[in-house]
Amino acid sequence: MVSFNIHGVPVSNGIAIGTSHLISNALLEVVQYDIKKTKIDFEVKRFKKALLIVKNELIRIKKQLLLDSNSQFAPFIDTHLMLLNDNNISDEPIHTIKNQKCNAEWAIKTQLDLIIERFNQIDDPYIRERKHDVVQVAERIIKVLLGHQKKKIKFKNESSVILVAQDISPADTLQFKNHKYGAFITEMGGTNSHTAILARSLNIPSIVAVRNAKKLIKNNDSLIVDGNQGIVIINPSSAILEEYQYKQNLWEMEQKKLIKIRNIKCKTLGNETISLLANIEVPDDIKSVKENNADGIGLFRTEFLFMNRPSLPDEEEQFKIYKSVTKSMGNLPVVIRTLDSGADKNTAADNNNKINSVLGLRAIRLCLSEPHLFTTQLKAILRASAFGNIRILIPMLSSLQELRQTKMLIERAKQSLKNSKIKFNDKIQVGGMIEVPAVAINADMFANELDFLSIGTNDLVQYTLAIDRTDDSVSHLYNSLHSAVLRLIDNTIKAGKKYNKEVAICGEMAGDPKLTKLLLGMGLTQFSMHPASMLIVKKQVLSSDPKKIKIKANKILRSIEPDNIESLIQDINK
Ligand code: PEP
Ligand code: MG
Repeated sequence: MVSFNIHGVPVSNGIAIGTSHLISNALLEVVQYDIKKTKIDFEVKRFKKALLIVKNELIRIKKQLLLDSNSQFAPFIDTHLMLLNDNNISDEPIHTIKNQKCNAEWAIKTQLDLIIERFNQIDDPYIRERKHDVVQVAERIIKVLLGHQKKKIKFKNESSVILVAQDISPADTLQFKNHKYGAFITEMGGTNSHTAILARSLNIPSIVAVRNAKKLIKNNDSLIVDGNQGIVIINPSSAILEEYQYKQNLWEMEQKKLIKIRNIKCKTLGNETISLLANIEVPDDIKSVKENNADGIGLFRTEFLFMNRPSLPDEEEQFKIYKSVTKSMGNLPVVIRTLDSGADKNTAADNNNKINSVLGLRAIRLCLSEPHLFTTQLKAILRASAFGNIRILIPMLSSLQELRQTKMLIERAKQSLKNSKIKFNDKIQVGGMIEVPAVAINADMFANELDFLSIGTNDLVQYTLAIDRTDDSVSHLYNSLHSAVLRLIDNTIKAGKKYNKEVAICGEMAGDPKLTKLLLGMGLTQFSMHPASMLIVKKQVLSSDPKKIKIKANKILRSIEPDNIESLIQDINK
């Protein structure tokens, strides 16, 4: 068998050796073929059987979600079960099979096209967007008809399964948290897309932007995924396989060694204490927060609670989640970021958005335009604040007016709780994400009006360099070490110092061990990252000499040339 390599953008470290499993977009694969009159009954039975398989599969998923305490996703499955029983899905394709004498896949696909057309004519944007549920249900039926379903349940050993997909949405990646796949490769995506961020939180090697991966890799190919280098080796020779088994062992040994520093205090050689905080998406992440001994939660991306479901979580449901997360952290800080929906993070809250772009109605903009949605979340957070050390974090601020409007809504939510005699922390701190260049430039004005600052470098790089963080065609231009980005970070840290306000970084730069010394040298003392990166970053902190790194960081800040910055980064890490 011919062995060859393909390359992409590494987004999560480690080495996986296993077998490929191609995830297909079933809708693209449907072809039409005519069937004989005598075969019509058989085709109808095949269709009905597919409906039954999908129904059983959905019931099984729902039970599993309830068992895994993911009950908030169960209504999503209920909607799909309801759609499965709808005449449009369950009966109409049967008429098409009979009338047109065509295959079942084509019949459901034709029906789906008709339904989408009808949905597109509906004025109400919320109802119009429900078409996505219909698409998902139809896709499930088509997958069964095409035989994909059988292959899917064959996995005996998930850790040797390497998923290969054109693209994986953040919502799908979220579902991987219930699995332990070996690795994943996608044809699309950028380094700091939310899919990539979730891959890092899963702690499995992953590579995005692997062009033509689905054409070059076949199902059940033997694969090596080198998530450190961004290389996929297809059908490796036995010598290469041996070499990578050795590298994999080394990597695993390194990871085990790191566990030894778990309980050591995170201090520089100058005895300065550095806070290592955790980024989480769902309450289940708390397990790895504890395993890695985080100093608190620096970013709870609450929008993930709003994903994979047809309706929004109400105040009570959110309150219970925030309360359980904060109680599990004791007195440690828990920074709850208000809904950062939009762009690549699609939730039920975005249904009114016609154009869902990174520059559009997302994050705080969306929340301010939907005060009811926002107030529901604010009240849930405030109520949970009576049970621990919660802080509120506002995403994607771009003006002081937005901040003041937000504070006004927080005050109103407080007043409403006071009127109902419900307890909360009246002195709850309100911080802002610094992720829009305009805000980083005016960081001092924001530091003056906020209780703390948290730099979202993922978006800050995207907006400073005008690079869509999810677009693989420009991912080579996405550069966290661009001098303009470094200056904005420096400006924000200085503003925090001037106004005596805490500054953290919660973007992916905080979890990149190559950047730890630079950021420490720039005066950063709070790093918030996925728990999986915590120990490797701690190792860097423990070996940092504040005087030396400060001088070197200043040199980097004065540099403009990317090559020069790269070599100075190597120097600071020596
Ligand atoms: C960021 O932009 O750096 C950030 C932490 O927020 P998110 O990645 O969720 O956009
Ligand atoms: Mg952001």
